[in-house]
Amino acid sequence: MPIVLRGARLRWPIAAMLAVVIGVSATMVLAARQRQADDPDHVDCNQVKCVALTFDDGPTPFTDRLLHVLQSYSAKATFFLIGNKVAADPAAARRIADAGMEIGNHTWEHPNMSTIPLGDIASQLSKGTQAIAAATGRPPQIYRPAGGLSSDSVRASAAQQGLAEILWDVIPFDWINDANTAATVYMLKTQIKPGSVVLLHDTYSSTVDVVYQFLPVLIANGYHMVTVTHLLGPRTPGSSYGGRDNGPPINDIVDIPASRIPSLPGTPSPKPAPNLPITDIPNQSPGGPPAQ
Ligand SMILES: [Zn+2]
Repeated sequence: MPIVLRGARLRWPIAAMLAVVIGVSATMVLAARQRQADDPDHVDCNQVKCVALTFDDGPTPFTDRLLHVLQSYSAKATFFLIGNKVAADPAAARRIADAGMEIGNHTWEHPNMSTIPLGDIASQLSKGTQAIAAATGRPPQIYRPAGGLSSDSVRASAAQQGLAEILWDVIPFDWINDANTAATVYMLKTQIKPGSVVLLHDTYSSTVDVVYQFLPVLIANGYHMVTVTHLLGPRTPGSSYGGRDNGPPINDIVDIPASRIPSLPGTPSPKPAPNLPITDIPNQSPGGPPAQ
């Protein structure tokens, strides 16, 4: 029975090949599912720990380094950009969008939105939106008033413009602790919990250093870094999320050995970009020293 023998000889290699193909396919499907589960744009924040890091007041000279750090850890974040800074450097805003980050409106000139004349509120929002849309091709859906200072009038204007207000849950005071990053890290470690929205500023080189060294801690604690909109879902225009203060310590995050925290680059960090007063509207700085 040479034909049967020949067939038997053939069937085994075919069966073996099929097994290999099925095995490889299954491995690829599992790997794809794992990639999807780890992808900050697809991760299910009801199933895993998520945190939304937000960076205000850019774009700045430090934004590109921050983007590089975030991308090296497959982290996503949300940038609340100041409109006139975007208009001055639209390519910088475009790089943030091209890196897959979310962009929110941080007003046109960063004034105290709760005290400027009521007639100026709408244009502070709309000019910020226009600058971001012109730079990136996408109008923002969310905004954050400078200093988190808002009012019913601001939110009513935002509602008319399709913008939802996003404040924060965690404020680590990175702008105060520019020379003491350990204090910022302490606040991050004690305040962050699953679902936190964290206020940071890429106006400081030291903040980029903090992010570079703290992302491994978050990852080791099982956190996924996602955008605000991924974490919270679409928000109703005119609504407001979060607040301006820290609550009691949460202490959800445990330390990792110092050996697992990357050391900072040998090159000295450039000096912080001038931060306050950011606004050029007299007497309308949302904080810090009075406008000159
Ligand atoms: Zn700000």
